[in-house]
Amino acid sequence: NGGFRLVRVEGRGRAGGRVIELRLTEIRRPLRRVRQNDPEKVKMLMESISKIGLQVPIDVLEVEGKYYGFSGCHRFEAHIRLGLPTIRCKVHKASKAILRLHMM
Ligand code: ADP
Repeated sequence: NGGFRLVRVEGRGRAGGRVIELRLTEIRRPLRRVRQNDPEKVKMLMESISKIGLQVPIDVLEVEGKYYGFSGCHRFEAHIRLGLPTIRCKVHKASKAILRLHMM
């Protein structure tokens, strides 16, 4: 798609972050291998998201134009399994130092 990052501006969420739809493929998940998701939770979220959509966006850090997801692991996996191309994210701009803290 020519590398478009921002699909659609959704508005402003609480805590200052802007809420946008990002492609699953452009969200880096540095901690994916550390924690295992609860498959039952993922299943329930899949059912709910397919019926009523994602009600609470996941939080992502934006550092130098790249997006990093640390939380919302179950919602993210539910989107993957549903074959959805994008997920609604609350984007928090951050520095490399903040990113490093999140990766510890
Ligand atoms: P995650 O790892 O994604 O944070 P949790 O099970 O800890 O998974 O939390 C699920 C979160 O997903 C809750 O905060 C809930 O409010 C939110 N949520 C967003 N959309 C939905 C939905 N359609 N159905 C159920 N929960 C939803």
